[in-house]
Amino acid sequence: MDEGHVIVIGGGLAGISAALACSDAGRKVTLVEARSHLGGRVSSVKHPRQDWQLDNCQHACFRVYDRFLQLIGRANAQQSIKLQANTNLPFALPEKKVFSALTTGRLSPPNHMMGSMLSFPFLSLRDKLAMRKAVKALSAMNNQQMWELDDTLFVDWLKQNGQTERAIDRFWAFFVLAALNINIQEASAAQACMLFKNGLFGNADAFDVGAFTSDLSDSIEPALSSTLEEAGVKIIRNSTVKSVVIENNCFTSVELKDQSLQCSDVIFATPHHITSRILENSVKNSNQPILEEMSSKIDDLCANISRIEYRSLIGIHSFYRGNRVPEDFTFAVMVDQPLIQMIFNRNSELSSPIEEGVQWVTVPVSAADEYLKMEDEEILQQLDKVLHQLWPENDNVERIEHLIVRTPKATFAPTPGSAELRPTASFLGNNIALAGCWTKTTWPSTMEGAVRSGLNAAAHILEIEWDSDNPWQQWPLRPKRGDSEWPAW
Ligand SMILES: Cc1cc2nc3c(=O)[nH]c(=O)nc-3n(C[C@H](O)[C@H](O)[C@H](O)COP(=O)(O)OP(=O)(O)OC[C@H]3O[C@@H](n4cnc5c(N)ncnc54)[C@H](O)[C@@H]3O)c2cc1C
Repeated sequence: MDEGHVIVIGGGLAGISAALACSDAGRKVTLVEARSHLGGRVSSVKHPRQDWQLDNCQHACFRVYDRFLQLIGRANAQQSIKLQANTNLPFALPEKKVFSALTTGRLSPPNHMMGSMLSFPFLSLRDKLAMRKAVKALSAMNNQQMWELDDTLFVDWLKQNGQTERAIDRFWAFFVLAALNINIQEASAAQACMLFKNGLFGNADAFDVGAFTSDLSDSIEPALSSTLEEAGVKIIRNSTVKSVVIENNCFTSVELKDQSLQCSDVIFATPHHITSRILENSVKNSNQPILEEMSSKIDDLCANISRIEYRSLIGIHSFYRGNRVPEDFTFAVMVDQPLIQMIFNRNSELSSPIEEGVQWVTVPVSAADEYLKMEDEEILQQLDKVLHQLWPENDNVERIEHLIVRTPKATFAPTPGSAELRPTASFLGNNIALAGCWTKTTWPSTMEGAVRSGLNAAAHILEIEWDSDNPWQQWPLRPKRGDSEWPAW
């Protein structure tokens, strides 16, 4: 055993956060990553025909992503994110070519969007009046009451709280789809209530939308890699961990293809199905009997993991010679559009265009399982139809390229009962911690959830009492509106 040596398996945001926090606290840390680059699911793919790196999918963040923004601040990567100076959530109904937006007004939460909601054209007065009941119920709910709803479907909760079909379809469903990556008919009421209570209706600035100012490989990888290295973290890339060595109740080394790394602590920061596979291999390959207590914990964990489902995401990228969407258009939610759910003008976010004169339009498709097999051509036709409805005057702007990225295992699915299946960081015991967006945080599978989980794991290994709703003490606080060090969008 290498006393004091922490090995982190997996270099996504969870592993990066865990490694950096342990190293900041003076521990020797090695981060092992299977791929050639860090960032995990926050990553880019190379375009097959062009010399372009493209996001796997549009990644949005929000000002309520406190720990994620702390990580970005710790890495001095403020310039990689643009945050809205005030919440502005544009919506469009392509069929009728109607635009509107939900924005922050003067009232205090949860009523801060009420002014814009009153003139929101996609809901009737009856829908809007009924919404007050649900918002009131959310505000009155404490955390315990919220998590007691984990076995309930959110749609049922909405109906019990007087919501109309139209408000469910045109308001609640969109936020659940985009933020939880699940259709509203399948979502846990607890996870959805958390989204609305702490996010949209929580603080007036919570839903200021943020976007990356370059493609994801450029935004995340260079700044975070160099920050880890400067902090003394050894990064081993291109190395897939297959198993760990368990002696008595402790994990004592991590097995790589060509070496065995001794350690005193291990942090698993891999997706849930991979964590399960590594643990099962470790038990199978163990030279000595594993103590009953440990083997039954591993069995329980793997049994729970096998019940955590995934949902997919599709990133549609389309490139034009000229402006297919107006230059000052940033993004909008598309009402009543099952496939083309949102449109982003990636040029409005980038610090410089991908190529001079080229506009990058992108569409994230959430809970996209039913579209995974759809041909590119059909997907593009649906995009063209919506673009034509909204901006027929730009029909002659030529598409010069496209890329459609399908990610089947994009996020875990917050279905009813899923909260119980998510293990705490300390679930397996003293010198082992579990991290990854799927572990127990109150967050769905997001960049914020991943960072929180990494910090939970670090707190367990460092034996620090820490509540992830509090800032991570060693890192700069997330930016307030108007902070001049952070670019405004
Ligand atoms: C297409 C897409 C769009 C998304 N959009 C958003 C969004 O807009 N906003 C948002 O907040 N979130 C979004 N998410 C979710 C968010 O990206 C994830 O929740 C988060 O990045 C997960 O981080 P993680 O560290 O838990 O896991 P991962 O990022 O999956 O990191 C795990 C790492 O472990 C490595 N690894 C796996 N097996 C091994 C092994 N055996 N040995 C060593 N290393 C291994 C992997 O290569 C990976 O780098 C999106 C996800 C996807 C896929």
